[in-house]
Amino acid sequence: MSAVSMQEFLEKLPKAELHVHLEGTLEADLKIRLAERNNHPLKSSTAEDIRRGYVYHDLPSFLALYYEGVELLQTEQDFYDLCYAYLAKVAQQNVLYTEIFFDPQLHIRRGLDFGTVIRGFNAAQEDAERDFGIRSNLILCFIREMSAKSADETFTQAFPYLERPDRSRIIGVGLDSDEMGNPPAKFAKTFARAKAMGLHLTMHCDLDQENTHEHIRQALQDLGSERLDHGLNVLEKPELITMAREKGVTFTICPSPNDVIRPGRSRQDIRDMLAAGLKITINSDDPGYMQSVYMTESLAKAQAAADLTPEELIQISRNAFEAAWISDAERGTYLAALQDFAQTYRVVAPA
Ligand SMILES: [Zn+2]
Repeated sequence: MSAVSMQEFLEKLPKAELHVHLEGTLEADLKIRLAERNNHPLKSSTAEDIRRGYVYHDLPSFLALYYEGVELLQTEQDFYDLCYAYLAKVAQQNVLYTEIFFDPQLHIRRGLDFGTVIRGFNAAQEDAERDFGIRSNLILCFIREMSAKSADETFTQAFPYLERPDRSRIIGVGLDSDEMGNPPAKFAKTFARAKAMGLHLTMHCDLDQENTHEHIRQALQDLGSERLDHGLNVLEKPELITMAREKGVTFTICPSPNDVIRPGRSRQDIRDMLAAGLKITINSDDPGYMQSVYMTESLAKAQAAADLTPEELIQISRNAFEAAWISDAERGTYLAALQDFAQTYRVVAPA
């Protein structure tokens, strides 16, 4: 056994990330490079100024910043650079595997081709795997404030890529952005098409949204979502807790945005989820816009807030590998690495 500090334990822990938006990993310095490359004027000229402008207090004010950043992504090379930067960053944090959300509608509506986006991502995924050993897949997200028709048309446009997940690495579909008035049921048809093709399903049920309990119910019961992204409001309804437990749903919790939307509630939220016997994972969400809090930092936040023990942290990491949409052979490799880690490292308090 090797004695390490909690910080070192968190750094070395083998990890999988299941809730990160690629467009949300756009760091201020890459924004500046893209703006120069594409001749796109920026309001701020330094990375520090850009980051100072990241002030938000709820989902719509966050999305306004996010959509502004998306405009900078123009070419296949831009999408490559975005994806490679994220993968290089988290590979250093011992993330062995990641399932990454992306929002094709935000690019298609600006006149870009689906292929431009996906070719850039796929090339970066291949190169990052070669350079760092990190494996990754993609989850195509629908923008919930856009129409059901737009989601379905995007699905049709993506069809050739969805048919070949071995090439495109798109293994599932998700649902994100502004939840108010946009329940999962709005997209039932497109999710049914995805499910019929053998794609995996997940949906955001963001914190403290209007009709959140009905949205969670629809996602789990009517649409058959395999995971819930955020979904903490499940705690307020015993019948939803039971449903989530029975269906073996995994929750992708993100401490960084939660701290903004529910300040001071992290400890109780995490402890209540664990006490309810629900499977949770810890993830970053949009680290480019959230003080560069990636996986290790997100786990450190959760650990500090809820006094998570080394055993609980290993279980949280195990939950992520178990909920990942990969082959059993690949999963076995990651779980063996985690097992090795658990037998090698022991946390000691600093002297
Ligand atoms: Zn999210």
